[in-house]
Amino acid sequence: MIDELNFDVVVIGAGPAGLAAALSADQNGAKTLLIEREARLGGILKQCIHDGFGLVRFQEKLSGPEYAERFIDQLSQSNVTVWTLSFVSKIDRANDESILTLITRDGMKVVRARSLILATGCRERTSRQIGVHGRHCAGVFTAGTAQYYTNILGKMPTKRCVILGSGDIGLIMARRLTIEGADVIGVYEAKPTPSGLTRNISQCLWDFDIPLYTSKTVTRVFGDTRLNAVEIASVDDCMCPISGTEEIIPCDALILSVGLIPENELAQSIGVLLDSKTKGPIVDERNETSLKGVYACGNALHVNDLVDYVSESGEIAGTAAANHSDYIRDLVSVECDDSLLYVVPQRLNRNTEKISCVFFFRSSKEMNHATLIVSKGDTVLYSKTFQHLRPPEMERLVLPLTAEQLAGEAPLQFHLEEKTNESNE
Ligand SMILES: Cc1cc2nc3c(=O)[nH]c(=O)nc-3n(C[C@H](O)[C@H](O)[C@H](O)COP(=O)(O)OP(=O)(O)OC[C@H]3O[C@@H](n4cnc5c(N)ncnc54)[C@H](O)[C@@H]3O)c2cc1C
Repeated sequence: MIDELNFDVVVIGAGPAGLAAALSADQNGAKTLLIEREARLGGILKQCIHDGFGLVRFQEKLSGPEYAERFIDQLSQSNVTVWTLSFVSKIDRANDESILTLITRDGMKVVRARSLILATGCRERTSRQIGVHGRHCAGVFTAGTAQYYTNILGKMPTKRCVILGSGDIGLIMARRLTIEGADVIGVYEAKPTPSGLTRNISQCLWDFDIPLYTSKTVTRVFGDTRLNAVEIASVDDCMCPISGTEEIIPCDALILSVGLIPENELAQSIGVLLDSKTKGPIVDERNETSLKGVYACGNALHVNDLVDYVSESGEIAGTAAANHSDYIRDLVSVECDDSLLYVVPQRLNRNTEKISCVFFFRSSKEMNHATLIVSKGDTVLYSKTFQHLRPPEMERLVLPLTAEQLAGEAPLQFHLEEKTNESNE
């Protein structure tokens, strides 16, 4: 017979999102449990020993572990129950509550949660998902795995490597491996523009003379037991390799930084609706998903570029989960056209007079002097001009709205309008 334990709020995942969510739930008086499958708290931050974390929240340049420690210290002063080395393998639902099955050091446990917060982070895309041809030899790493080897295990995964994809982790690893003595031949990006933050391109590549090649991809890997070369080719506008442009580059590792995908198997298993654009749950302004009492935050919700926003989304979910009551939802949807990659949250509750909502969005392409227009039906509710927008840089916007403005069935619509040369004249 397995004992069933009851909590007001259960948080799955103790990265920055889960830490902030658990602390906020506790501060709002909820009996809270934080569950983490690894031995230590902090999530991905444990391996991010470079600085640049916490600029928005603390106006300081902290390393990942330093940033996490600020929340872990607070946790030790709180009433939050923390279980590490505990893996949530299954969730069932009954009467709008969640029943979690966990594998822990002490065996199997069952926990009943009035509110559940999903803070499970994201996963890296692998070579299988991008279809690189060749033998299954050792030496193909995701950038996060290479980072784990270097920063946590203290082992060098390569002496001479090619990095495919210009995502932030790849840029950071280009610098890290160079500092540790590896020869980073270059970062190759299939798109015509880099995917990472501008500051990372400058600080990780230009400062270390590491070349960035755009409109190029890896088409093949060579090697029997260990990789010994890769084939690089130029790509056309549809990102298809152009025959005759292939070159072979000898190296002992291919490091992939080709995108992150929110980790949402648990969410899907209980029927939480996902957004095809973000690959995370569809949420309202309190980060509540399509299921009552189930919340999502951090990279499980959508891939964030700054940890400060991850913590903020955890706080929103934690506060809402603690104050969860049997209210009637009155939702209006939030939509965007293809001038934006996505907008989060995807719906708003209008059962209070004033709704102050934090929106996150990304433009679908690089834009200069672009005006964001937020409208409902024919009425423009808000507009703001941005000097420069890039898809890798997430934008944050706080909009105070009223129930009156949100009345009616029409969705709240987000649209970006770029000033053309003609309209400049
Ligand atoms: C290499 C790298 C460099 C970065 N650099 C910067 C930077 O310079 N500045 C900045 O601001 N941001 C940076 N970021 C972004 C920021 O670190 C992330 O956005 C943030 O850490 C995500 O937090 P999270 O809590 O959502 O996810 P994570 O940190 O991934 O935490 C999720 C946690 O959930 C746990 N979990 C998942 N499933 C289960 C389960 N079933 N049961 C129990 N536990 C589970 C995992 O073990 C993990 O600990 C970087 C990110 C990476 C990867």
